[in-house]
Amino acid sequence: MKNNLFSTYGRFLLFGLGIMGLSEVSQAQEAKKHAPIIDVHVHASQINPNFANDLCPWFLSNMPGSGPKQTPPSFINTDCARPLKAAKSTEEFQQKLMETAERLNITFVASGDAEILHRWKAAAPKRVIPSLGISNAEQMTVEAFEDSLSNGFYQVMGEVAPQYQGMSPSDMSLDEYFGVAEKLGIPVGIHMGTGGNGMANITSPKYRASMGNPFLLEDMLARHPKLKIWVMHAGYPMIDEMIALMGANAYVYVDLAGFIWSYPLEEIHMYLERLVQAGFGKRILYGTDLMVWPELLETSIGVIENANYLSEDQKRDIFFNNAVRFFNLDPSQFEGIED
Ligand SMILES: [Zn+2]
Repeated sequence: MKNNLFSTYGRFLLFGLGIMGLSEVSQAQEAKKHAPIIDVHVHASQINPNFANDLCPWFLSNMPGSGPKQTPPSFINTDCARPLKAAKSTEEFQQKLMETAERLNITFVASGDAEILHRWKAAAPKRVIPSLGISNAEQMTVEAFEDSLSNGFYQVMGEVAPQYQGMSPSDMSLDEYFGVAEKLGIPVGIHMGTGGNGMANITSPKYRASMGNPFLLEDMLARHPKLKIWVMHAGYPMIDEMIALMGANAYVYVDLAGFIWSYPLEEIHMYLERLVQAGFGKRILYGTDLMVWPELLETSIGVIENANYLSEDQKRDIFFNNAVRFFNLDPSQFEGIED
């Protein structure tokens, strides 16, 4: 893959040099720079080739039942014309992620393995915004958490995912951590909603669908009135609760990660269109929930690009402008913005 890409590019470059001078080539390439995209939901982890499986997008279009004495439902399936290939090593994933981010002009908020986050940040300082995740108090003391968020490397708190432990985001055991983020003005991403087919049967017996209800954020938000949060996975499928929560709390945004490439496409578009129709087009962040499939970046971008109920301005808001506002970024720092 890498060699093919390189040789194609190499041929283009040689051809280009044959008919234009070097500066003209670089100008032409610059003019073609893709409009910037901010992906607010990327995971950094050591990749174990035995567990990194290929994936069919929208694999949850069919969720057959199972029974306690039958084989559990498979979490992902590869029964489609063109499954997305999983990277088979940590190095391969980084190389393909960075190549795609450069080509499509993506900057991403990433959480997970600290060593890998440091490697990514060193490889592409302008493309990576490190995020520190915590989902229960056993992972880190409040003091250590505050130290980590204060040293300048981490700019975001997330992914916070108490739902997998059957815990509400308003559980008091997490309260001081949210207090630190509020004090330091750090935005927070909280997993609410999706779990796939049979999550409680397969890998997470403590997972509770009910703990993904966006209303469970209300008490925590009331205790931290200056906290800025985004609801990861947009509280799918609890659209009414999500809309009510955003109506009551003006600092709450959502991301589209995960569900836009796993649940049925018509269902996804219905959910996204409803959010926009309800008036929240300026509070939707683009994200993938990327773990091991580099091509998922293109797949997810395609979902938004093909949403014919969105105007071009609304798409740019989702891809970029809303995240710039939410994370207090400087838009002039991003290349490829049209005046
Ligand atoms: Zn999540």
